[in-house]
Amino acid sequence: MDSRRAIFLDRDGVINVNRSPYVMAWQEFVFETDALTALAQLAQTDFLLVVVSNQSGIGRGQMTRAAVEEIHARMRRAIADAGGRLDRIYYCPHAPTDGCECRKPAPGMLLRGSAELNIDLARSFFVGDWIDDVRAARRAGVTPLLVQTGRGAHALQEIQHAQLAPPAIFDNLMRAAEWLLGQAHSSQTNKKRDS
Ligand SMILES: [Mg+2]
Ligand SMILES: [Zn+2]
Repeated sequence: MDSRRAIFLDRDGVINVNRSPYVMAWQEFVFETDALTALAQLAQTDFLLVVVSNQSGIGRGQMTRAAVEEIHARMRRAIADAGGRLDRIYYCPHAPTDGCECRKPAPGMLLRGSAELNIDLARSFFVGDWIDDVRAARRAGVTPLLVQTGRGAHALQEIQHAQLAPPAIFDNLMRAAEWLLGQAHSSQTNKKRDS
């Protein structure tokens, strides 16, 4: 089977509004502006759409896996009702002190997605709002996109401070999706455009 391209998506601060300390229930889940429209448009491309989310509230004993999975089931339904789709949702349930391989900035969830869904990481993208999303993307060989929703503005300062190469920056998921739609088309029309 040919490998597929994917758009990995962070959840909090990209798809939905960040909430401190965690989004603990569906009643606390609010989609970012135009995120549903963006996901519906991305669903029209050849990209797989894969969420990769740190949910350390589980490992810290502040919420259950069942609560997170209930939120994800409802999020999926709302996205589907708006014409979108998520092909897979990965989340890391561990606390930072657990030393797991899935908590971003580790690339574990991206590598797992690549193995399970036959994703070509080098031709894939990761839309995130935090420096750890950028780091996880680069460790997996995925191109990072940083949005300015969620912790995005703070992330830029952190990226400069860490002297990382700056990622491509977009106002929000909708703006990132518009750019990604251009990538989806260009891969099909590359040859013609060059001639
Ligand atoms: Mg985030
Ligand atoms: Zn983990």
